[in-house]
Amino acid sequence: MENYQLLWNNALEVLRTTTSSIAYTTYILKITPVDLEGRKLVLNVPSELFAKEISTRLLDKILQALKTAETGVTSVKITVGNSTVDYLHKDDENEPLLESSMEINPKYTFDSFVVGSSNKFLYSAAKAVAEDPGNNYNPLFIYGGTGLGKTHIMHAIANHVKSINKTANVLYATCEKFTNDLITIIRQGKGSASGTQEFRNRYRNVDVLIIDDVQFLANKEATQEEFFHTFNELYGQDKQIILSADCHPREIATLSERLKTRFEGGLMAQVVSPDIETKIAIVQRKAEERKYIISTEVATYLAENGSNDIRSLEGLLNKVIFASLLHEAPITIGLAMEAIKQSVSNENKEVMTTTNIINTVCSFYNVSKNDLLGKKKNKELVEPRQICTYLITELMSIPLVTIGQAMGGRDHTTVIHARNKITELIKTNPRIATEVNDLKNLILKK
Ligand code: ADP
Ligand code: MG
Repeated sequence: MENYQLLWNNALEVLRTTTSSIAYTTYILKITPVDLEGRKLVLNVPSELFAKEISTRLLDKILQALKTAETGVTSVKITVGNSTVDYLHKDDENEPLLESSMEINPKYTFDSFVVGSSNKFLYSAAKAVAEDPGNNYNPLFIYGGTGLGKTHIMHAIANHVKSINKTANVLYATCEKFTNDLITIIRQGKGSASGTQEFRNRYRNVDVLIIDDVQFLANKEATQEEFFHTFNELYGQDKQIILSADCHPREIATLSERLKTRFEGGLMAQVVSPDIETKIAIVQRKAEERKYIISTEVATYLAENGSNDIRSLEGLLNKVIFASLLHEAPITIGLAMEAIKQSVSNENKEVMTTTNIINTVCSFYNVSKNDLLGKKKNKELVEPRQICTYLITELMSIPLVTIGQAMGGRDHTTVIHARNKITELIKTNPRIATEVNDLKNLILKK
């Protein structure tokens, strides 16, 4: 059997349950899969009327079913009779090839960035660039260990530029996203001028380009090549470029000499681990953002016990906040010490259970277990519910059906849907990415 037939059969199984039996027998069963073009499945139908009916009433369900069944198909083309024209795009050729671009986290601002001796230089450089993009330091290259605020300050620049100039075109992407977009275009085939155009529109048609974690350019020749041209084009027009890496450009393996030279040609700003005073200030600041007040004593205790990066410091703070929620007790030094001691001694001891994960998610989002596992569909519940489902699939190796049962008797297709949805969101929505990460740390008591 042809692969597209197999893919379609899998989708049919889902469609049987998601469409009415009349729609299923009158329409769905009369559709014939005829080809696969990249990730687009070509479906043939008997008549225009039929195509119209499908496209207006059933297309969403079909796309959803292809997704639920994990076929990898992302779009469909509908042909009528012997014609090969896509009924869905008879009039336009401009379907976007690239996935949407990345969001900028509104919480990462200059205001929420705590300045100390370890990042003072970076802060002033970033401020100068944000005030007058393209005219101060170009490129601004930020480097230093992980968890030290590189991503935060880059988003802060983006937020600031947008706040003073609403029409500025600011693009933030990780180097990975840049690479993936490039791969998508290459996969469409060399002849696809529209693909290349779309890629260039995205990356070259900007006022400020921010690329995070360029150490991922290591060993990627084609990406380096494209990056070089993107860089030159923007630089030539005095457009601001901001880059980050977890090391100096000279330490990025196989980075071409010409890129190294470009990267070092602007301003290099290094971030180092914060001193204890800055760490204390950051802990207090993060607590305040989450509407908790913690004493200097507790903040000092956390700062002294965390490792040198700020992400791990936030992890400790989460643990303490979580303990306070769990025991419904205020954050005292005793509670903090207990929470951190326990999390260390519990390492590896705790058996992973669905109950454990569900309870953690409930406390984290402050929702009841009944609501989390229930049927209510408001966003405040749906999101935690899908995140919880995602976490179980990630952290435990148990069958999807069992997960569905644990999540209040849901179908395994719902589990797959939640998992895919959150996997996608993690890539595009920094808030979700952070929450999922915090939850993982809480569950794993890291
Ligand atoms: P990096 O990109 O260098 O790995 P991030 O920017 O992701 O680090 O920072 C990790 C976490 O620490 C984020 O939640 C960020 O808000 C926080 N953080 C880092 N530096 C600071 C700072 N100076 N003030 C406030 N929060 C900070
Ligand atoms: Mg980062």
